[in-house]
Amino acid sequence: MTAPSAGEADITADIVIVGAGFAGLGMGIALDKAGRGGYVILEKASEIGGTWRENTYPGCACDIRSLLYSFSFEPKRDWSRQFPRQPEILEYLRQVVDSYDLARRIQLRDLGQRHPVRSARSGRS
Ligand SMILES: Cc1cc2nc3c(=O)[nH]c(=O)nc-3n(C[C@H](O)[C@H](O)[C@H](O)COP(=O)(O)OP(=O)(O)OC[C@H]3O[C@@H](n4cnc5c(N)ncnc54)[C@H](O)[C@@H]3O)c2cc1C
Repeated sequence: MTAPSAGEADITADIVIVGAGFAGLGMGIALDKAGRGGYVILEKASEIGGTWRENTYPGCACDIRSLLYSFSFEPKRDWSRQFPRQPEILEYLRQVVDSYDLARRIQLRDLGQRHPVRSARSGRS
């Protein structure tokens, strides 16, 4: 799979995951567990976290109990509250990235312009 990044550069990988939010990180971990290490996670922002990076307004929190709003394979035992707030969820995701050594798979945007994935194509004929 090749994913041209805003016309700047072609990125080639067996599998391209778009976005480093809960879904993208979870997919990456699932691929690692399945022995499919040839993937890359492309993130248009300069940080992982998706929703929990973007939304920082006062009181921002999830409305699902913390024990459920987390990866089943990576439970967190010490949530500070039942409905965690944005900073704690973002920190949880950062810890997941560390625990599963995902940083080597994630390509964040450059310090300059954003590089959203606009298209991807399969290299298979
Ligand atoms: C305040 C708030 C509270 C919420 N509470 C709950 C809750 O209690 N329970 C619940 O189930 N859900 C809740 N949600 C929904 C929440 O969005 C999802 O639970 C989940 O975090 C979504 O994860 P995701 O990875 O699918 O998407 P996102 O978190 O949106 O991540 C997508 C990522 O992809 C990146 N991206 C997008 N397009 C491109 C591109 N073209 N190229 C490169 N990168 C790209 C984005 O920058 C982002 O980092 C809440 C959302 C908000 C805002």
